Amino acid sequence: MAQLQGIIAKAAANGVPDLVLLSAEEARAMEPALTCVGAVYSPSTGIVDSHALMLALQGDLENAGGMVVLNTPLSHAQCGTRSIVLTAADGTALEATTVVNAAGLAAQALARRFEGLPAQHVPPSYYAKGNYFTLAGRAPFSRLIYPAPEAAGLGVHLTLDLGGQAKFGPDVQWVDSPDDLVVDPARGDAFYAEVRKYWPGLAEGALIPGYAGIRPKIQAPHEPAHDFMIQGPAVHGMPGLVNLFGIESPGLTSSLAIGARVAEMLL
Ligand SMILES: Cc1cc2nc3c(=O)[nH]c(=O)nc-3n(C[C@H](O)[C@H](O)[C@H](O)COP(=O)(O)OP(=O)(O)OC[C@H]3O[C@@H](n4cnc5c(N)ncnc54)[C@H](O)[C@@H]3O)c2cc1C
Repeated sequence: MAQLQGIIAKAAANGVPDLVLLSAEEARAMEPALTCVGAVYSPSTGIVDSHALMLALQGDLENAGGMVVLNTPLSHAQCGTRSIVLTAADGTALEATTVVNAAGLAAQALARRFEGLPAQHVPPSYYAKGNYFTLAGRAPFSRLIYPAPEAAGLGVHLTLDLGGQAKFGPDVQWVDSPDDLVVDPARGDAFYAEVRKYWPGLAEGALIPGYAGIRPKIQAPHEPAHDFMIQGPAVHGMPGLVNLFGIESPGLTSSLAIGARVAEMLL
């Protein structure tokens, strides 16, 4: 309960003043399948269609005269005082006055190939895989349900997709490779125990291995969580360059705010 009070205070400090502390009875009146000693209700939480969001952003970009170029990995760059020369893997060269390195899991590896960028500004990379298990059958809840957060993630929570399908996850599995995306069915055992803490009604055999994603961590497994690292010329000294490191969850939710911060640094 103390942790829940802390979440409400942190939300208010970050401009989200509408969280409500609920008793177990109040929570159960909203979600009868839930077991808890208390809960926080967030009335302004929503679900975003990430594909539609990307298409909308692409539309805005193209309306402003921009162009999206896919399947053209950047191989390295030379940072100068007036411009940055980018070289793609196919040899194409491009001279740019502003460059934003938003390469996710590959952002550090890419930044290390930016000639002129001092190496001490590139943080180390750690990979925390998050596995999801899908629920066979109807969703027991009509809202997203989160347990109290754990150290390296949000805890195994229930997410509803836009079709109403429920999935549980993501857990935290530290891995050595950013390409390790296979869900090990054996991890389901731990999911049953975690989920039954708030939904004892979860039937044996109802969880099906879903999919996995990898969090681009910039801190080692036992270090405290790090905030996003949005690094502009004031830090690294390279004009026109912003590097984004450790943009893990909620990077998608925060994407417009991150964009505004990057624009501020460059303009
Ligand atoms: C399991 C899991 C669950 C999540 N859930 C949520 C959630 O509920 N809400 C939320 O807000 N966030 C969530 N996130 C986080 C969110 O997905 C990320 O914060 C977000 O995708 C980061 O966006 P990005 O553009 O920085 O990086 P990415 O989405 O990783 O995109 C990086 C892009 O760079 C490209 N790239 C890499 N190298 C090169 C190169 N050399 N040249 C050119 N392109 C390159 C890649 O192909 C990729 O397209 C979750 C993440 C995980 C792993």
